[in-house]
Amino acid sequence: MGIQQAPLNLHPATWAIAGIVLILSGLVLGPSFDIGVWLGILVLGWGVWRLVSWYVPQKPENRYEHHVAHHATHTKPRHAIHYLRCGNCRSIVRSTDYYCWKCGKRLR
Ligand SMILES: [Zn+2]
Repeated sequence: MGIQQAPLNLHPATWAIAGIVLILSGLVLGPSFDIGVWLGILVLGWGVWRLVSWYVPQKPENRYEHHVAHHATHTKPRHAIHYLRCGNCRSIVRSTDYYCWKCGKRLR
């Protein structure tokens, strides 16, 4: 929904609870806290709206993009380094290394 500021990213239930608390305190404190009731209704309405948009399924293409980005960041470094065996001493060496760490034989 384009609203990404940190203070508005609270869990929707937090807004709903805050709204209920404001309405209740407004009812307890009486007419002097009328503004609290109206504010509570606004906050509760905001919370309910957030709750609805929270549980409405996201657009499939957004999920796909997220998945691709997630996948890419996790598989790229893993593919960059291969592990090989040194032809001389059979130690496990990285394909990015030029010399064997154990016997010093040139690997490539
Ligand atoms: Zn070696």
